[in-house]
Amino acid sequence: MAEHWNSETVAQCPYNPSHLVPRMRFPNHLVKCQKNYPHVVLKICPYNATHRIKAEAYLQHLVNCPNRQCIEFEKYHHPFPQNPDSPSNY
Ligand SMILES: [Zn+2]
Ligand SMILES: [Zn+2]
Repeated sequence: MAEHWNSETVAQCPYNPSHLVPRMRFPNHLVKCQKNYPHVVLKICPYNATHRIKAEAYLQHLVNCPNRQCIEFEKYHHPFPQNPDSPSNY
């Protein structure tokens, strides 16, 4: 890896590796490139819609996806459960 871009703020487009996209604009960019590269068939990660993975790497990604761990973590920590019985005095 000899890239000199900062992977914290810039993401590499899965449709065209020469696209280096600011992470803020990455979701919009993906939508555009999905249309521009219809021949590139990528699966969408169920944990993060900005993760587009080639079919052969998809299962591997599901195991390794960092967002998967986030979701599982939150399952055990229901942060603010809505209590319908609590009196609401507006
Ligand atoms: Zn792109
Ligand atoms: Zn993912």
